[in-house]
Amino acid sequence: MTTVAIVGCTHAGTFAATSILQHHPDWTVHVFERNDSLSFLSCGIALWVGDHVSDPKRMFYSSPAALAEAGATMHMRHDVLGVDVTGKTLTAKDLETGETTDYAFDKLVVTTGSAPVIPPIDGLDAALENGAVMLCKNWGHALAIKERAKSAKTAVVIGAGYIGAELAEQFSDIGVKTTLVDALPRVLANNFDAAISDQVEQAFSDHGVTLALGQKVVAFRPASGSDGADGSGVTVVTERGEYTADVAILGAGFRPNTALFADQLATIGNGAIIVDDYMRASLTDGTVLNDVFAAGDSATVHYNPTGKDDYIPLATNAVRQGLLVGENIVAPTKRYLGTQATSAVQLYDLAMSATGLTLGGVERRGLTARSTTLVQDYRPDFMLTTTPVTATLVWDPDTRRILGAQFLSKHDISQAANVVSVAIQAGFTIDDLAGADLFFQPNFSQPVNFVGAVAIQAVAES
Ligand SMILES: Cc1cc2nc3c(=O)[nH]c(=O)nc-3n(C[C@H](O)[C@H](O)[C@H](O)COP(=O)(O)OP(=O)(O)OC[C@H]3O[C@@H](n4cnc5c(N)ncnc54)[C@H](O)[C@@H]3O)c2cc1C
Repeated sequence: MTTVAIVGCTHAGTFAATSILQHHPDWTVHVFERNDSLSFLSCGIALWVGDHVSDPKRMFYSSPAALAEAGATMHMRHDVLGVDVTGKTLTAKDLETGETTDYAFDKLVVTTGSAPVIPPIDGLDAALENGAVMLCKNWGHALAIKERAKSAKTAVVIGAGYIGAELAEQFSDIGVKTTLVDALPRVLANNFDAAISDQVEQAFSDHGVTLALGQKVVAFRPASGSDGADGSGVTVVTERGEYTADVAILGAGFRPNTALFADQLATIGNGAIIVDDYMRASLTDGTVLNDVFAAGDSATVHYNPTGKDDYIPLATNAVRQGLLVGENIVAPTKRYLGTQATSAVQLYDLAMSATGLTLGGVERRGLTARSTTLVQDYRPDFMLTTTPVTATLVWDPDTRRILGAQFLSKHDISQAANVVSVAIQAGFTIDDLAGADLFFQPNFSQPVNFVGAVAIQAVAES
């Protein structure tokens, strides 16, 4: 009988547990999770704030009872305090009783995920403590943000990435006067190049969101005269201004939650556990461990556009890697195909999606690439309605391989990023995509579909 310990259970943990039990229904699978729920879809938080969620309970797709039914031994509200990776034991504290117990395991699955980055900014700890600044990651945060959104008249959202942008959009939609702050000079600067982010900035301005870009937050101070939860609200001080609101939300990114494994498992610089193609972790000396796996936000991904390990915390990676743990837990069997970090977002009436590298991402990594942007109607103008799509393709001028793509339109063109994602995974060049068989039908597309058209333009520019 094999005993598995899974530490952490949101997406990677839930899928790993399910997959392991499907393959090995007779194994003992201990699941440790410090929260009292599992499988929460954080991507629903902003939508819930804006009243676009039918029932918040539906933001969970599994439960402790469902995993127990599948055969897992559940330890909910248990905090794993220490793990001896090579000694194969862990210590967990029951957060209800305070009791601490040691458990032995044959195989370990690390799915401890990530935590919000909390930069060392003056006054931030106190503001987080009194609730004037909130985080946005788990179910507890979701409940708190939703409650505050009911009474707040003003908000400052710090971080104009996907999470901050979605929150700012939903706050402005429900009438909360919102300021969106970021140290970078553009919104969604890590996800889209300027041809697209410029249009998003215009949409924010059109909806009354104040953009405070290119300015780092340097301090948080209590604000008098506001109706914040503690009676004071908060003033967010940046290098270039001060923004006072009833509440501020910090969305400054995520870091892997892997302190338990420091000095035991090999990691990249930010602490993400390096996994091989079969989700196996290794010791700090590089020895691959056949009985220790990591998946999701606690682990690295293989980023196909660069061919290197990277840190890209997305639920899509957590799910796919979690499933692979079950496939490979006995022996390396099924290889991980890597990721393009394909993603999408809807802000107001703009649908956007992206895959692979942006030109900005290329520059940040010290690489070289070219980019081609095309704007064309998504379907012919003899139709009663049509609307433009902005399509950008990022490609390597030497190999001609596609490295990334971005799309924006008022029409739902989000699936286009999935098409290019598969093309990148398959190693397509701009020539391959230019000649790919993409359908034409006037309800849906032009004779030359915009995905093919932007590739044809790239070939013409090459
Ligand atoms: C607001 C928001 C919106 C998002 N939107 C999207 C989206 O649209 N699409 C997308 O692909 N991704 C999205 N993401 C990212 C996605 O949520 C994460 O990539 C995903 O949650 C990672 O899952 P995970 O299981 O690896 O880690 P986590 O979700 O971080 O879960 C880790 C779990 O481990 C537990 N844990 C950690 N340490 C211990 C310990 N010592 N003992 C016991 N338990 C422990 C934690 O309590 C937690 O439940 C979003 C994230 C946020 C915050």
